[in-house]
Amino acid sequence: MAKKQDFASKTLKGKMAKTCPVCGEAYQYVKTVSMVPGEKEGSYHFAERIVAVCKCNEKEVYG
Ligand SMILES: [Zn+2]
Repeated sequence: MAKKQDFASKTLKGKMAKTCPVCGEAYQYVKTVSMVPGEKEGSYHFAERIVAVCKCNEKEVYG
């Protein structure tokens, strides 16, 4: 159990966690889905995008 917790804390503070140079907050990665135009006129399909969210853009992402 103790080893598991240690691994988790290392993961959070490790290479995966990038921080914003502007606000200093750690980015949270959020998957967003948006409609984008397809090849045929009037057709749309969904596009998934991973967005890095910090204090600078959280209002834009979360609305
Ligand atoms: Zn920021």
